[in-house]
Amino acid sequence: MNPSPFSFARTSEEQKRLDEIGRLADTLRDEAARADEENGFSYGAIDALKEAGYPSLTVPAEYGGAGASLYEFVLLQERLAQGDAATALGIGWHLGIVLELANQPAWQDKYEALCRDIASRNLLINRAATEKGTGSPSRGGRPATTAEEVEGGYLLNGRKTFTTLAPALDLVIVTASLEPDGNHGEFVFPVATEGVRIEPTWDMVGMRGTASHDLVLEDVLVPPEARVKHTRSEPSRPGPAAHPYLLHIPACYLGIALAARREAVTFAAAYRPNSLPHPILELPHIRQLIGEIELELSAARHFLYAVAQRWESAPANPGAFAADLSAVKTFAVRTALTVVDKSMRIAGAHSLAMTHPLQRLYRDVRFGLHNPPMDDVTLKQLADRAERELLPPPEGTAEA
Ligand SMILES: Cc1cc2nc3c(=O)[nH]c(=O)nc-3n(C[C@H](O)[C@H](O)[C@H](O)COP(=O)(O)OP(=O)(O)OC[C@H]3O[C@@H](n4cnc5c(N)ncnc54)[C@H](O)[C@@H]3O)c2cc1C
Repeated sequence: MNPSPFSFARTSEEQKRLDEIGRLADTLRDEAARADEENGFSYGAIDALKEAGYPSLTVPAEYGGAGASLYEFVLLQERLAQGDAATALGIGWHLGIVLELANQPAWQDKYEALCRDIASRNLLINRAATEKGTGSPSRGGRPATTAEEVEGGYLLNGRKTFTTLAPALDLVIVTASLEPDGNHGEFVFPVATEGVRIEPTWDMVGMRGTASHDLVLEDVLVPPEARVKHTRSEPSRPGPAAHPYLLHIPACYLGIALAARREAVTFAAAYRPNSLPHPILELPHIRQLIGEIELELSAARHFLYAVAQRWESAPANPGAFAADLSAVKTFAVRTALTVVDKSMRIAGAHSLAMTHPLQRLYRDVRFGLHNPPMDDVTLKQLADRAERELLPPPEGTAEA
């Protein structure tokens, strides 16, 4: 194996899959730009990914999937995002959920069938947890969506916002408050169920191709087995701060940063204004900006892949890495924001033309701030970790 020094593939098999997804990602750029311009959706990208069997990347091999590890999932997602970040974020949720549910006891009665369906029929799944009234579900707000137990199952009513991948979803996991006791529950069912409607509300400045529309539920009757049987000690809502599968988010935004880097360097090599005898690439201040981009990206990517590798080496103890998993996301998004900014400084005002790829990357990268875990949560986690490590436990606690 002789990968580029910028490749984080660990084996020739990983490098091969990375090259394959890289070739596919490069074909997706034009449609991604079109989906952004038209506030549409890259159906062609989804078809191409299905054709390549990508929806079953993280399905365990015993259930017909590729059985990719967390590390490999992150590696491929970062590359995919360089071609089409919106589609990468969407399919990243799907693939990440498949990884996540493998270890959730409440899902064990459904997991094998779900995986086999994904592997054989290329089904796509996502979680619809956000609502206007709750804001980010990671804050623990109570869903206004209700699930009432009735004859034949549960009756669901409500409206979810930010349902990424909405036009292509086959299955959805919906959080709801169970009536009358008010406990939270999760329900999984086909989007094609009667009473489910996608309302095309997504009209944001960036990540337009995620088509994260509203999912409206009007008297949706789902069978009893649609309910995920969480127990009280096992929260129905994932604690995003501690979930390794969420590493697809920093991978996506670093993919955007890598795409910006490529635009900046190729622009600098080609652009020679008539005030200069050479391309701007040779100018000291441009080389300094490129050097800073390399430094920042290198640190963020080593951090991402080191944490993915560490988690993979000790999956039995995910709690030990909770703060690092969150820190990777915060650090990667901060890095991606500054890398895109520096790339645009290199290209100058050319980067602001609506026809220039950098302006889309600039709008898209901003969205990383609003995917979980949120920065304040990460920083608190890190502060708590420092306190635990460096200070004696407060008097009266079990350890004191
Ligand atoms: C591109 C994209 C794709 C997404 N895809 C999905 C998806 O597929 N499924 C899904 O369910 N969701 C999805 N989301 C939603 C996402 O997970 C968040 O719920 C959403 O971005 C809102 O986050 P927020 O922090 O802006 O909202 P809010 O929680 O409303 O926060 C707004 C402000 O209030 C502060 N705030 C609010 N509550 C608290 C609190 N309790 N404590 C401290 N501060 C608080 C925040 O810090 C922030 O400053 C997506 C979001 C984006 C941007």
